[in-house]
Amino acid sequence: MNTNEPTLRQLFQGMDTLPEAANLRFFRDLVQAPGPSGFEVAAQRVFRDFVTRYADEVHTDVHGNVIAVKRGAGRLKVMVVGHADEIGLMVRHIDDDGFLFVAAIGGVDPVVLPGLRVEIHHEGDVVLGVIGRKAIHILESSERDKAPKLTDLWVDIGVANREEAAKMVSVGDVITFPRGLELLGEEYLLSKATDDKCGVYLAGALLKELHGQSIAASVYAVSSTMEEVGQRGARTSAYGIEPDVALAVDVGNTSDVPGCDKKKQGDVALGKGPSVAVGATMNPVVVRRLQEAAAELDIPVQIETEPGLSRTDADMIQITRSGIPCGLISIPNRYMHTPSEVICWRDLQQAVQLTVAFIKALDDTADFRPLP
Ligand SMILES: [Zn+2]
Repeated sequence: MNTNEPTLRQLFQGMDTLPEAANLRFFRDLVQAPGPSGFEVAAQRVFRDFVTRYADEVHTDVHGNVIAVKRGAGRLKVMVVGHADEIGLMVRHIDDDGFLFVAAIGGVDPVVLPGLRVEIHHEGDVVLGVIGRKAIHILESSERDKAPKLTDLWVDIGVANREEAAKMVSVGDVITFPRGLELLGEEYLLSKATDDKCGVYLAGALLKELHGQSIAASVYAVSSTMEEVGQRGARTSAYGIEPDVALAVDVGNTSDVPGCDKKKQGDVALGKGPSVAVGATMNPVVVRRLQEAAAELDIPVQIETEPGLSRTDADMIQITRSGIPCGLISIPNRYMHTPSEVICWRDLQQAVQLTVAFIKALDDTADFRPLP
């Protein structure tokens, strides 16, 4: 890496002015955009605005997937996908006193919610709310020892009754965690929804990187929808694109925080490079090509073991049509599915470089059958 490159702190401090901070601005705009599964429009707009400058064509389909295409000289099509949706909540019921009761969109852990300031999205407006729980002093001792359930919690929007609440919010409104990208230490970034704006960022950043370069494969950079509720957007977009090979890009849990057992989780840490997943849903030729690309670039890569399903877009893409060879690049992530996920910016940049190298090495002779 060039030592004259600005540090993450310099990029962060010059986010709105430095030309070199354009990619960080793109990442910030992605993580700040509210986008629970099924309601990704704001995030998709950020992706589409960014890639329009670098793609030959951009389509948006009926599921809200945004597909940016860079045409290659050959016949091979490679799909790179990150999912635009994030976990969140939905207003399910408003009680007589004006408190909102909510349902989870995706895998929400209620433990992280009490006291959280949230944004309720109502007809284009944002309404502030706070997630309430009985204070510790009035919890029964049996309740104190237990994690709260979602139905033990409510959202308080500062009104006296249902009628007042109904002027500000409706049943069916979606709720997101507080926005705000922060620098944590010198190398890490903290925000909601790095799962999986990291993947969307990568899909956009790789088109920027490849802009003006002639390559053999056509690149389909996809910002997919509804991953957190069953990888739905990736499934339909893969069917439509019919790629010869695909890479899903998502975040992966690390085992570098207190209480983790490497015997159970394996050894993945923040700051030690992106991970390449191995396992049943990963095509072995794709895995080998990713590892070769990393070795050539001298980028460190970690191994993510996914012996069964990976619970990412890769699982669905793999079984689309008559089967698509698929790989998974994971950006190591701490505190996944909380309002304060942590990633290492360098890991993400290395993942972009890895993907670019993988794509450049593709041509029409590539054969992904495990047994040629
Ligand atoms: Zn994800």
